[in-house]
Amino acid sequence: MNNENRNIVIIGGGFSGSTLAINLACDKSLADYNIYIVEKNHEIPKGLAYSTNTNLHLLNVPVKNMSAFSDKPDDFLNYCHEKWDRRLDLKELGNYYLPRAFYADYLKDKMNYAKSQFANIKIVQAQAKDILVKANQYYDVILDNNETLQAQFVVLAVGNIAYGNPRIANSDYFKSPTYVQNPWNMRYLSSLDPNKPVLIMGTAQTAIDIALVLNDHGLKAPIYMLSRHGYMSQPHTLAATKVMCSGHDAGLNIDNLDRNILKAFKQVRQAIKRNHDWRLVIDSLRSFTQKYWASLDISQKKRFARHIQVIWDIHRHRLAMGVANDVKRLLDAGQIKILKGRIINIEEEGLMAKVTYRRRGENTNSQLDVSYVFNCTGPNFNLKTLDNELLRNLNVSGFICPHEFGVSVKTSNIYNIVDASDKVLDNVYIMGSILKPQLFETVAVPELRNEVKEIADKIISQVKNNYSVSIKKA
Ligand SMILES: Cc1cc2nc3c(=O)[nH]c(=O)nc-3n(C[C@H](O)[C@H](O)[C@H](O)COP(=O)(O)OP(=O)(O)OC[C@H]3O[C@@H](n4cnc5c(N)ncnc54)[C@H](O)[C@@H]3O)c2cc1C
Repeated sequence: MNNENRNIVIIGGGFSGSTLAINLACDKSLADYNIYIVEKNHEIPKGLAYSTNTNLHLLNVPVKNMSAFSDKPDDFLNYCHEKWDRRLDLKELGNYYLPRAFYADYLKDKMNYAKSQFANIKIVQAQAKDILVKANQYYDVILDNNETLQAQFVVLAVGNIAYGNPRIANSDYFKSPTYVQNPWNMRYLSSLDPNKPVLIMGTAQTAIDIALVLNDHGLKAPIYMLSRHGYMSQPHTLAATKVMCSGHDAGLNIDNLDRNILKAFKQVRQAIKRNHDWRLVIDSLRSFTQKYWASLDISQKKRFARHIQVIWDIHRHRLAMGVANDVKRLLDAGQIKILKGRIINIEEEGLMAKVTYRRRGENTNSQLDVSYVFNCTGPNFNLKTLDNELLRNLNVSGFICPHEFGVSVKTSNIYNIVDASDKVLDNVYIMGSILKPQLFETVAVPELRNEVKEIADKIISQVKNNYSVSIKKA
């Protein structure tokens, strides 16, 4: 093998792609490999989650669980002690929910250090558009700047895929300047009229983040937030955070939790009745939820998605206490107004948008006039419609294909891509939130750092064992 072919190409420079590059670069056996991170939209290593500049946006995981590295669990805690507040007792600091912008500084610190130590980390500011299979199972990663990176290993760490447009009668509306498909693109703030109401589609964490930004930016008019059930994420509490981190036994474990998902849900409810705080029960499941999920058959997984997912999400993915207090203030003041229902249509009218929606349980339509409509409906992993050109192209060419769930990506051994002809590509990996059908818990740092470590270990061992390319049937 010549040196030109010793390339590992990581597509995506958010938390996952960046920390994977650091893990790989640290290993001596990869010293003569180039480790490329391909990223276009965000500053490496911030990704979508940590690109915010406002301290209003807090981490929703306490400091003690946010180390970027699975083999150094106190790394972020120690960093915070040094850079946030040296006077705080480590135990107390571990329970804090700090700004996401501060976490971005931590990740940057780690990346800058790694780059200063390992010249083989190379940043490519471009979008990957396609991947072609070459002779001997090398890959050409095609970039939007007309360059091509030849790779021996490819890792897709493409993260949170932007929200898809909802189905409405007038799909032309989505071209309107009153529509914000990507709410993290804050360009709309400069033309925000403080006295005109806005609509946020969604009531989960991103929707809440955007509501807080709008209020902080001087919006006085109502912020309507609309979702099917109108459920909002529940808050953390300090007491539960303290117990949760030291481990709580709610009496449920991988062996006694029923494999019928509705019966399991009942068991969880019973455990909640026996405990002081439901948070302790939910968090006590976390250590084995991935294993439990893997043991369910597809019909049970689909049942979960249909009947339990929404209620699970608002209890499992909670708001930092500071954020929850801000939301309560806006709810109490009547600025945030929660609507349960679904959007039927939206028309642009002058500088405004006329939204027609159907309230849950009603059979007549209601209307709202708003200056902006923000799409905070949650990620879209339908390979035909998702907002990621690379994945759409790969799906068309058959390089990837959908998971049996109908969305996301089919894989083998969790992380290896399986192509449309059922071949396992053992040097092409995928990780992150797109693996929800495989892993269930795969959104937040405590899980992602384990995925990063597992993929890094696999690549390192392939290289050590004089990697020879093979293709197996799935
Ligand atoms: C608003 C928000 C808040 C969150 N808060 C927390 C929190 O407090 N704690 C926690 O643990 N988790 C949190 N999360 C979860 C978060 O998703 C993870 O912590 C982590 O940041 C995900 O990193 P990632 O690299 O997998 O994905 P991302 O951060 O989405 O990074 C993926 C990157 O890939 C790039 N990309 C995609 N396709 C291509 C392509 N074709 N070519 C080039 N680049 C491409 C994208 O531009 C993006 O920068 C939050 C998520 C969001 C959205």
